[in-house]
Amino acid sequence: VSSQTADIIIIGGGITGCCLAYELAKRKFSVLVLEKDTVGAASSGRSGGGVRRQNRVPQELPLAMLAVKVWQEMGETFERDMEYRQNGNLRLVTTEDELRHYKKEVAREQQDGLEVHFLDEKEVRDLLPVLSSDAKLFGGTYCPGDGAANPLLVTKTIAHEARKMGAAIHERQSVTHIEAGKPGEATTTFNIRTAKGSYESAMAINAAGAWSSEICTMAGVSMPPFQVKRSHMMVTKSVPPVITPFVSHSLGYMRQTVTGNLHLGFSSRPVSGYDVSTDVAIFERAAYYLTLFPFMAHLPVIRSWAGLTYFSPDGFPIIGRSPERENFFMVAGYCGHGFCLGPGVARVLSQVVAGEKPEVDLSDFSWNRFSESSP
Ligand SMILES: Cc1cc2nc3c(=O)[nH]c(=O)nc-3n(C[C@H](O)[C@H](O)[C@H](O)COP(=O)(O)OP(=O)(O)OC[C@H]3O[C@@H](n4cnc5c(N)ncnc54)[C@H](O)[C@@H]3O)c2cc1C
Repeated sequence: VSSQTADIIIIGGGITGCCLAYELAKRKFSVLVLEKDTVGAASSGRSGGGVRRQNRVPQELPLAMLAVKVWQEMGETFERDMEYRQNGNLRLVTTEDELRHYKKEVAREQQDGLEVHFLDEKEVRDLLPVLSSDAKLFGGTYCPGDGAANPLLVTKTIAHEARKMGAAIHERQSVTHIEAGKPGEATTTFNIRTAKGSYESAMAINAAGAWSSEICTMAGVSMPPFQVKRSHMMVTKSVPPVITPFVSHSLGYMRQTVTGNLHLGFSSRPVSGYDVSTDVAIFERAAYYLTLFPFMAHLPVIRSWAGLTYFSPDGFPIIGRSPERENFFMVAGYCGHGFCLGPGVARVLSQVVAGEKPEVDLSDFSWNRFSESSP
């Protein structure tokens, strides 16, 4: 059994935990990440890879704007290519209701400083020539600076950079116990245990994704009723470049990777337990893609997988300090948006932890907004 002390222990080695490790090690904290599986093995490595600012609720847009700034920095400074490309994000508008909604949304986003455009049908078809001529279309919204990246490569690369910065990342170490003083005690030292070690820290950050409530229970802090959902990806054989932007529509989203494969995504549905087996029903749901992109009819599907998304009751995450323990922090409940937001969230939370002025106001994401006494 090994033992170690650190200023900060981060539980979870997804994109959030690895970015936090990088940001905090950069600020000269000693950092230890405990990951029960391998880095990126859960939602982060299974994500659709979309890195977008458009189509966000207003509260989330500043975080997404900051996140893209951090993504650009990572793309420029990291040793490895994470396949991050700003090839645009195109949302197809396929009903009159959507038309009304997205016209308003584009106007609001433009006011908030995002470069985004409403495209008419012809402009959408010029951008996406493989779209079926039979597909009913009312136009699209387009953000040229949004994009996508390779999820597993990204998470592994950030972990690599965090280690270079001095962070320790222990894989295959599942946190099973947290001793954190008596309930009601504001601050405490954490003793965090896995089957292989016992670790102490002055601060702890719960970045355990869909498992966050288990970690809160171990730490003796309360957690609002979040919901676990399952989301699927399907991958086709590689083809020459046919789709440039990340494309989304009412039932899902898709992108073409750097290596030419098409990754098709499907919206999340509630699941019991932490079941990430593939539900064969997605093959029926995939039929919608064929109505939009008939060229895919004879394209072999080579892989599919599922991952978990974690939903808060009001649609955006908790980012910050526990109301019950001032040195216990959490990032959880991205509602399917955490791959893009993770690097931005880690930047702001690290600023909070380090006592710097946070670049984005986190009050909309506070932990106690769900408590009865909160306004
Ligand atoms: C199919 C799919 C498509 C998606 N597409 C997109 C997209 O296009 N764009 C986007 O922005 N977001 C997308 N998302 C959402 C995004 O992937 C998540 O919001 C994000 O990855 C969450 O990152 P995280 O680091 O918080 O969690 P995770 O990546 O889940 O990391 C949490 C880690 O904690 C570890 N852990 C749990 N319990 C313990 C324990 N007891 N001890 C130690 N470690 C523990 C887990 O093993 C895991 O590695 C998608 C998600 C899925 C499933």
